[in-house]
Amino acid sequence: MYQIIDGKRISQEIKDELKEKVAAMKAEGVERCLAVIQVGSDPASSVYVNNKKKACEYIGIKSLSYELPEETTEAELLELIGSLNAREDVNGILVQLPVPEHIDEDKVLLAIAPQKDVDGFHPVNVGNLSIGRPGYVSCTPAGVIQLLKRSGIEIAGRECVVLGRSNIVGKPMAMLLLRENGTVTVCHSRTKDLKEITRRADILVVAVGKPKLVDADYVKEGAVVIDVGIHRNENNKLCGDVDFDSVAPHVSAITPVPGGVGPMTIAMLMNNCVEGCR
Ligand code: NAD
Repeated sequence: MYQIIDGKRISQEIKDELKEKVAAMKAEGVERCLAVIQVGSDPASSVYVNNKKKACEYIGIKSLSYELPEETTEAELLELIGSLNAREDVNGILVQLPVPEHIDEDKVLLAIAPQKDVDGFHPVNVGNLSIGRPGYVSCTPAGVIQLLKRSGIEIAGRECVVLGRSNIVGKPMAMLLLRENGTVTVCHSRTKDLKEITRRADILVVAVGKPKLVDADYVKEGAVVIDVGIHRNENNKLCGDVDFDSVAPHVSAITPVPGGVGPMTIAMLMNNCVEGCR
């Protein structure tokens, strides 16, 4: 029988721990404040932004919301980020991605002061992660590490395979597993003999953005499978990059979609806001 790794429960546990920490910090006169910027009104982005604001409210983090019109210029956005960088009462800044096409995303990410970059996307934070220095870590892969640790799954010395090499998930995931002393292989769209490599994994993390790509042929008996993917199928139901029904009977532990990695991303964002760039 396989273990279902319950991201809903674990993310709630983390948020409750953070709530207590924030209350203790407030008692000492320390406040946390996150500035959330959204440009345009993409419905999916609005849902994410609202969820982030709700999580802040639950934990006791102050949130400042900037809902800017679609036609906001790059210069205007950069100016707002500059003013938030300078504010001592703001300790986290987040720009909801994607930004409209006329705005250069790289310039935006570079403009956020690394010490306020709670998404962990600034090159300084990415660099710090890769050389093992303190800094903010991208929230989704940080959430995967928490799922593993809090489910009692050992990483050190184990064969870890990351499927996907995006800047937001795959690459930081690989660095984090390495930091936890896993033996890490990264696979991507140009990898040859993909299944042979994924079948070596004791821990397989899948972030390919392809619905149900990974079936039982990709996994070793008894492996741990973490599914980062989120998709809506033809019946408007959520599914992941892993074909759960095919894979689950062969594994020792697996994350469901929904209720696995998804809820961890916001929990780790909140963690970054509370803890600062340790
Ligand atoms: P991406 O599209 O930026 O990267 C996908 C990666 O998968 C690429 O590196 C590509 O080389 C690789 N890939 C694509 N097809 C492949 C194939 N057939 N075989 C092997 N490798 C292949 O995606 P991303 O931003 O990393 O996101 C991946 C998935 O995770 C998406 O479904 C996304 O919605 C989801 N996601 C979830 C969360 C969350 O909070 N749970 C956060 C971010 C992303």
